[in-house]
Amino acid sequence: MGNALALSGGPRLTDREWPRWPQPGERALKNLADVLNSGRWTISCAYQGRPSYERQFATAFADYCNSAHCVPTATGTSALAVALEACGVGASDEVIVPGLSWVASASAVLGINAVPVLVDVDPSTYCVDPAAVEAAITDRTRAITVVHAYSAVADLDALLDIAQRHGLPLVEDCAHAHGARYNHWPVGSIGTAGVFSMQGSKLLTSGEGGAVVTDDPDIATRAEHLRADGRVLRRDRVGVGEMELLETGQLMGSNQCLSEFHAAVLLDQLDLLEEQNAHRAKAADHLTRRLQELGLTVQDTAPGTTDRAYYRYAVRLPDEVLAVAPVGRIARALTAELGFSVMQTHRPLNDNPLHRPSSRRRFATDARYMARIEPSQFDLPVATRVYESVVSFGHEVLLAPLEAIEDIALAFEKITSHIGEIAD
Ligand SMILES: *Cc1c(COP(=O)(O)O)cnc(C)c1O
Repeated sequence: MGNALALSGGPRLTDREWPRWPQPGERALKNLADVLNSGRWTISCAYQGRPSYERQFATAFADYCNSAHCVPTATGTSALAVALEACGVGASDEVIVPGLSWVASASAVLGINAVPVLVDVDPSTYCVDPAAVEAAITDRTRAITVVHAYSAVADLDALLDIAQRHGLPLVEDCAHAHGARYNHWPVGSIGTAGVFSMQGSKLLTSGEGGAVVTDDPDIATRAEHLRADGRVLRRDRVGVGEMELLETGQLMGSNQCLSEFHAAVLLDQLDLLEEQNAHRAKAADHLTRRLQELGLTVQDTAPGTTDRAYYRYAVRLPDEVLAVAPVGRIARALTAELGFSVMQTHRPLNDNPLHRPSSRRRFATDARYMARIEPSQFDLPVATRVYESVVSFGHEVLLAPLEAIEDIALAFEKITSHIGEIAD
């Protein structure tokens, strides 16, 4: 057989330049210069007579999420740990964690000495399966976490119902879903608390960063203490040169504050998010129509979803194609045709080299705890099946013009029709 596919030495389908990520907006440089000259590079330095960028961002992001409170943090991982602890999770408590996610979904739980209980996902949305969540609840469960994965919103109606019936907090991990809406309401403000990551790959980013949003004032106050060494922002008038953070000693914390530089960049990026999300959704809708014509199954979302946010666009390959070549090779073949990175999903957390608590001496104080957190004891057949059949690519690609999106459909068509060329 000749070389039709780029992976086997044939010509690439396109040499297009694809959009890159992140993309600074017009305010970024001005904001950064302003922070540099402000005399205050983080909220834990003295007040300089004007609102910090951190406060400006917290207000704007709470508003964006329709939440009463936003507590920014240094990373998404710290936001998740802070939110869980603020919801009352502590040592040895079980926390339900989707089995198909970035390692942080589990490592944040370990970070507060709790036990991640990995549960399986839904085969069409790749988000946590409500029935599996309910089956995993024990008398030691103290919280449920849900990830709105890749471009889906999880079945929040079912999850809220379970959480309420069992009296458990539901923490939404929205690291993939800035701007997604469920029944017209922003994700993150539907559960007890919502957690966001602003790491460099995310839809809203400052390189590193995170945030907790909640309507519950007590959770917000605890989150403030937890992320600022047991201090909260003063609500009364602060004089220039005074500390804005008040040492209450009500709840011990550690330093997970977001710097002023990061907050300044986030304010710039937040201006752009809605328009970028709208462009990505339009491109995704076009691609989805084309891929469905080819008989491919794109990632689905829960019925209540009114706006999807595309962090990664994910497609399941047909069984007859996978019978010829494994998904990893198909991803490499797509990468070779298109010139941007196409990958598998996250590897399920029961068999993921990044989730290996036995490699950390800090957990070895208690052999029973070590046994309870051992990832391989959890069964995740659906997540494993998703990992073995789904390819995905990053959201920046969806910022390309629609005619470029057409190339992506053509690449899938080319590879599925020449799959024999990359057979075992
Ligand atoms: C990125 C991510 C996080 C953690 O965010 P960091 O900012 O990298 O700490 C948590 N959960 C999910 C699902 C993520 O994708």
